[in-house]
Amino acid sequence: MLVHICCSVDSHFFLEKLQTDYPEEKLTGFFYDPNIHPYSEYQLRLLDVQRSCKKLGIEVLEGPYDYENWLQAVRGLENEPEKGARCEVCFDKRFDVSAKKALELGEKKITTTLLVSPLKSQEQLKRVGDAFYEKHGVAFIAVDYRSKGGTQDQSRVTKEEQLYRQDYCGCIFGLTMQRDQQNKLMDEMFSPISNLTLPASIEERIHMYKYRMELEDENKEYKIIKQKFLNYRQFNFKLIKGKREVLDAYALSYSTLQRKKAQGRIEFTNENIHYFNREEIKFITLDYFNLTCGTSYQAIKELIFNPPHFEKEMECRRAMLCDNYDITPIIVVKNIPDGKLSIELDAKTYEDVKEKLIIL
Ligand code: SF4
Repeated sequence: MLVHICCSVDSHFFLEKLQTDYPEEKLTGFFYDPNIHPYSEYQLRLLDVQRSCKKLGIEVLEGPYDYENWLQAVRGLENEPEKGARCEVCFDKRFDVSAKKALELGEKKITTTLLVSPLKSQEQLKRVGDAFYEKHGVAFIAVDYRSKGGTQDQSRVTKEEQLYRQDYCGCIFGLTMQRDQQNKLMDEMFSPISNLTLPASIEERIHMYKYRMELEDENKEYKIIKQKFLNYRQFNFKLIKGKREVLDAYALSYSTLQRKKAQGRIEFTNENIHYFNREEIKFITLDYFNLTCGTSYQAIKELIFNPPHFEKEMECRRAMLCDNYDITPIIVVKNIPDGKLSIELDAKTYEDVKEKLIIL
């Protein structure tokens, strides 16, 4: 039987139940979810499915990430709410490709883990599955693992197995609406050109989830806990000298500017910190940055495209200002500029929760 898989939270419980109810059946997983955006989130969900299937001894195949085709399929339905017409097309598309995969592999039965998701309509899935059977003779197995306490059992398994519990369905349209309603920053969409791994980002999770797989291979005990913290994202930063000369400059993480713009000049210098006369802004040279951080950047562009690890940068910030809670802008430049300067900095600090792995 080919089992279309949407995510580990739905698949782990679902596959365990199938193994019990169909002991003679060889199950093969098929991860086909081009709806998931961004691609890093797709990789994260796939990674967790691979881990779960490995535990259950089930082979998992990866379908194509044909995102453009998926976008084409839901065109015109972008503003539909969740559970609406876009979701119908999304299920149909994923099911259709999975069913064709079953046909290609010579499988006689197919099912989908979407059947346990509380957001999906079982009747609708069954209708699509039965229509495919009529056409191609691949039977759709419409199990109901949601009723009779199934949903509670599923939550228990999710917790016990420490599965990755995503907090949005998958696509950019659903995510945008959800974050708008929550009045929350859509930080899933941040991907710095420098490839810097930001705190509580998808990339940070991927590193952690890969690491936990290594720990599991070595039979080491661990736990994933949650932690509240002050997160940060920088949207835009520019330093302008005079009217229009843009200078190479780098704003350290946790630099914030309430009004997003400031104009002024450097007033005085003390112990390698150059004090701007507005908004508590501070300037440092690249040499001083290198000295404090133990780095050897030759040019600001090098720093922009290949900054130190986030934690390392925070250590440097603390060392320079001798303060743990400072969020004033610290701007790194090659040479300290004189004259009138304009600073544009759009950045945000916000309360957030991140996962942390602790070894027991
Ligand atoms: S909200 Fe979920 S089911 Fe609906 S279209 Fe987006 S990814 Fe598909």
